[in-house]
Amino acid sequence: MVKVLYIAGWGRSGTTIVDNILNSYESVFSTGELYYLWRRGLRQRRKCGCGDRFAACALWREILDVAYGKRQPDPKAVDELQQRISRVRHTPSLASGPLSDEAEEYRRLLTRLYHAIGEVTGARLIVDSSKVPSGAALLPRMRDVEPYLLHMVRDPRAVTHSWMRATPQLDRPEPQLMQQHRPADSTVHWLVWNAFAERLARSYPNRYRLLRYEDFAAAPREGIERLLEFTGVDVRNSPFLDDTTVLLEPNHTVSGNPSRFRTGEVALRPDERWRADQPIGPRIAVTALALPMLHRYGYKVSVAA
Ligand SMILES: [Zn+2]
Repeated sequence: MVKVLYIAGWGRSGTTIVDNILNSYESVFSTGELYYLWRRGLRQRRKCGCGDRFAACALWREILDVAYGKRQPDPKAVDELQQRISRVRHTPSLASGPLSDEAEEYRRLLTRLYHAIGEVTGARLIVDSSKVPSGAALLPRMRDVEPYLLHMVRDPRAVTHSWMRATPQLDRPEPQLMQQHRPADSTVHWLVWNAFAERLARSYPNRYRLLRYEDFAAAPREGIERLLEFTGVDVRNSPFLDDTTVLLEPNHTVSGNPSRFRTGEVALRPDERWRADQPIGPRIAVTALALPMLHRYGYKVSVAA
């Protein structure tokens, strides 16, 4: 039996830092965004969190050997299979009801991968910060997997501001910028991905938690310790030096925000840059579009900073 905590939510909601902090506990192993192992890790030959090219990382080689032995799946075929079955609109049918042959194949492939990660790392808890709703839908249907769902949400105006900033990618052979999203596009995704994450809570009876980025950022140590207690993992040997400073261990994350390469002592401060820097136009657009859900998650409707 392996215990897996899946982190769901729309990008730029703080999932990478939570993932990296959890990984710094001895009994936890974070995969980063495991969903992208096939495309970014194996096909695009991007870097593992340890700095090696993914295919050259000894730990992942061992995990893939234990999972699939001599019958390694073709990364291109798995990438294409993911594209077909894991569209956001397919999430409800992956969560319940009969699975198609392809979805069944994907479920088996992922189940073996999680088991191999547990076996090779010896971790008591595996954290997968893929965020993609379909991954959270399949997890409770995997054999010998104890699934937990962490749903992270952040003020959509802050999220949009982050998506509009040009952020360099650090894991590609050639420097490139991360994908950017315009305000309406980011906010529609924010609405849809959060709605699906909430809906999936039903598949995780007593194993679903909602965490707002703002609450985590205000009291990081407390937020992380509550999460670990929720998953039944020992919070001793903490990487926290005080309530807001953490010692980040090296990691083997497949993919995620470029901040995943940060290690060592990190002072955690709430990122509130959007309040001073965001132009009024995008702020009004996002506020109007997200209005009903702003209330739901306890965010102020006012557009003033
Ligand atoms: Zn590695």
